[in-house]
Amino acid sequence: MSARQAPRDLLVVGSANADLVVGVERRPAAGETVLGSDLAVHPGGKGANQAVAAARLGADTALLARVGDDAHGRLLTGSLRAAGVDVSGMLTGGAPTGVALITVDPSGDNSIVVSPGANARLTPADVEAAGGLFARAGVVSVQLEIPPATVAAVARALRPGARLVLNPSPPAPLDAAVLAACDPLVVNEHEARVVIGEGAGEEPEEWAAALLALGPRSVVVTLGAGGALAADGERTVRVASPRVEAVDTTGAGDAFTAALAWRLGLGDDLVAAVRFAVRVGAAAVTRRGAQDSYPTRGELAAFAEEVRA
Ligand code: ADP
Repeated sequence: MSARQAPRDLLVVGSANADLVVGVERRPAAGETVLGSDLAVHPGGKGANQAVAAARLGADTALLARVGDDAHGRLLTGSLRAAGVDVSGMLTGGAPTGVALITVDPSGDNSIVVSPGANARLTPADVEAAGGLFARAGVVSVQLEIPPATVAAVARALRPGARLVLNPSPPAPLDAAVLAACDPLVVNEHEARVVIGEGAGEEPEEWAAALLALGPRSVVVTLGAGGALAADGERTVRVASPRVEAVDTTGAGDAFTAALAWRLGLGDDLVAAVRFAVRVGAAAVTRRGAQDSYPTRGELAAFAEEVRA
């Protein structure tokens, strides 16, 4: 195998957004104008978040995503590069970079409008043209902030034996073929309830069983401060989270999923990978922001020492 084809730890296919955040005393009613704080612009989007989270942990990570030919696109590419993500597969143009317009009130409640922009223009043809990225990827992680047809194309593009990790966020109906490829499907409570539909039940073990019945090879349910649950049809195991003082849970699920996908690619079994991922998720909630809160490998080691996780 030539150096160019050396296997890589993780390929993320997904969204890249600029998060535009303004603090307000209260949200405007229809037709009203309110003044807010200075604008803060943060790199975000689930795909970019996952890629940054994995790369900061030391994973050899590439991102396939589309941004606009604009300042937000350059901000995102810059933050990905700074984290060590391979951005050679990033695509530019077709629409402005996706943005999330976020207002936050003093109680911390936020209202968000997302303009998918270039994320909505990441096409099945873009996936098919990225054969080189897929040929090297033993694990591919994808979310639903890109078109459903593109997600289906990702499931078809996996090299033989490659593993698909899917976080259905924002939750939407999933193709049987996509579901069948998931190993695992990673959901929080809200996503579990939407994917299962009527009669989901109250216990995470019930959700895991109902989700497994839809076809994925394995399921992971994240439970916030409660950690996570792993189920593969043979066993269902709850993994506790380290106890931490949560400052900001933004992007914790993305850090969790990226860490999980990376460790599965390194050969961990599902429960071992979840044990690692809950430490990364817990570390991420102890700091503000999404990407800014993600631990490096060294920070994670220090954190694990501190919480004795
Ligand atoms: P999402 O961010 O998608 O809503 P969760 O809230 O379930 O998902 O969080 C994802 C993971 O982040 C959890 O499985 C856990 O590992 C970690 N996490 C989230 N909130 C906390 C918390 N308060 N304390 C410790 N870990 C947390």
